[in-house]
This record gives sequence, C-alpha cells and structure tokens, in this order.
Amino acid sequence: MAGKAFVRAGLDRSQRIRWAFQAAFLLLNIWIGVEFYLFVRHFETAGATVYVDRPPGVEGWLPIAALMNLKVWLATGELPSLHPAGVVLLVAFLAISFLWRKAFCSWLCPVGTVSEWLWRTGRQTFRRNFQLPRWADISLRSLKYALLGLFLYAVGSMSVVEIRAFLDGPYGVIADVKMLNFFRFLGVTAAVVLGLLLILSIFVQNFWCRYLCPYGAMVGLVSLLSPARIRRSPEACIDCAKCAQACPALLPVDKLITVRSAECTGCLECVAVCPAAGALWMSAGKRRRIPAWAMAAGIAVLFLGVVGYARWTGHWTTEIPARVYGELIPRAHEFSHP
Ligand code: SF4
Ligand code: SF4
Repeated sequence: MAGKAFVRAGLDRSQRIRWAFQAAFLLLNIWIGVEFYLFVRHFETAGATVYVDRPPGVEGWLPIAALMNLKVWLATGELPSLHPAGVVLLVAFLAISFLWRKAFCSWLCPVGTVSEWLWRTGRQTFRRNFQLPRWADISLRSLKYALLGLFLYAVGSMSVVEIRAFLDGPYGVIADVKMLNFFRFLGVTAAVVLGLLLILSIFVQNFWCRYLCPYGAMVGLVSLLSPARIRRSPEACIDCAKCAQACPALLPVDKLITVRSAECTGCLECVAVCPAAGALWMSAGKRRRIPAWAMAAGIAVLFLGVVGYARWTGHWTTEIPARVYGELIPRAHEFSHP
C-alpha cells in the first residue's frame, strides 16, 4: 500500500472556489429578497414607501410554477409571459446538474449553503455529526422522491388550459407574494416545523437536502445522466478512506471506482482531502479530468449565459401593470390555493 503512494503536490483550492460561489449566490438571494420585500411593501402601503422594481429572480423560489410553465412551454412551444424567469432558472439548474452532477445543491442553492453551515457548526460544537440508522436513512431518503412524484403528478395531470387558468388567476399572479407572506407571517405549526428542521440540520448532515428536498431529488435524477463523475484509481489510491469520511453525501467513495449516485453533489470535498496523487478526480469520460476552476467557470458561464439570453430575448421579466399589483397585493390574504 505505502509503496504506491505519491503525495499530492500543491494546494487544493476547490473548496475556496465553491464557498465563494455559495456566498455570492446567497448574497444574490438576500439582495433579491430585500428588493422584493420593498416592492411588496410599496403596494401594501398604497405607495407610502419607496418603489423598487420587482426582481424577476424571485421566481427561482417558485419551483412548482416553474414546472407548470415548463409543461406549457414543452406542450405549446411558447414560453409563458407570466413568471418566465422561474422556468429559465429551472432550465439553467437542470443543465448545470446534467453537466456537473448535482452541483446546483452544493455550489449555488442558498438552502444548501445554510444547511452546510448548520452541520459544520454542529460538527465544530459537538465534535461530530450524527448518522441515522441505515434503515431509517434509506426510508427517509425516499421521502424527497415521493414529494417530487407528488408535484410531478399534480403538474402532469393538469392540462395546459388548467395551468394557464391557475397561473393567470389572482393566486398565480402573486404566488411570489404568497410565498413571501408564508415566511413573514409564519403560523405556529410552520414555525415549529422550521425550527425542528433547523435543529436537525445541526446534528444530521444536510437533513433537509438529504431527506426532504424535492428540488434536490429532481436535479439528482437528472445528474444520473451526467457524463461527469468522481473517479478513483485503485492503483494510485492508498486506501486511507479520507474521501469517504469527508463526503457530505456519506458515499463510500473509497470503495468505488466511479461515483454514480444521485446523492453526489459534485462538491469535490473528497478530491480536496485525498492525499494521493492521481487517486481521485472529477472527470468527463474516463480520462478527461475536470479541475475545480473549470467546473466553476462552466457553472458561471452556463448560469449567466442562460439568464443573459433570456433577458436579451425578452423572456425574463413578468410584465404585469403596477395597477394589478396595487389591486392584488393588499388583498393577498383573500386568495388561497385553488
Ligand atoms: S462523492 Fe465527492 S463530490 Fe460527490 S458528494 Fe461526495 S464528496 Fe462531494
Ligand atoms: S482519499 Fe480516498 S481515493 Fe484518496 S487515497 Fe484515500 S481512500 Fe484513496
């Protein structure tokens, strides 16, 4: 074993690059949240507060509306004019997941970032994270697929006419405001559930992402088709198991030749800790290695390219007259899910 060990030279910067992406995307989402809050407050106060344009990026938080619009787009060939940014972002994230595993989760998703900070805080404070028993882990992991199946079934069973009627109705038009209000005026049950999820996320790595997130389930299934995957060379590997210990998805990287799991988020943590030269790498195909900087550049170019193209072709902004928002936003509490 020791005879074949070649210590890897140079610093691994993959995690710094990934953390920079996570921080940038989290800041972007906070910025979007503040802008959207000011936009909503302007209409709630009948114009007494400052007016800020509605940020289209808020539609990234409307994945079900995005799925509905994707269905309309595929069925009619036309991208709907209401909430188009949501479907544009969905396509960008699906493409990123196809090309670089479930990288959306570990490089971009703000919920994934907070989740990672929580389990790292838990590990630093209590010197460890906890693992559920295998039977519980496997059963709970199927929950996110069940939730995804439920949403896909709901959207799939709606006709294009029904989707349009839903999205063009008052609830659909201000679905983003309803989502904001859900978090602003949190009910007791929702607050308890969120609190529980926060606590569990401190003790169990990525509790929400691993067990409950249907978005993660969807990008994970797409990532199964990805040509990119982590590969291990048994010849260069020194069997130290550091990769498996570092893997936030709890994958047995040290026992595999290629990591094909839908749980792999392309975070490159396993590659970052591997001490043996040429033992572990992210690849496209058997030989082509993808360095972290290339993965980062690819994610940035794809994300900015898709969003830029949508803006350029006029498929980014929802054009709803201020008068309509002025009418609907103060009455948002009157509209419930049909
Ligand atoms: S296998 Fe490697 S890249 Fe995939 S989730 Fe685990 S640590 Fe991250
Ligand atoms: S970190 Fe994993 S791939 Fe690298 S030498 Fe250790 S066991 Fe082998």
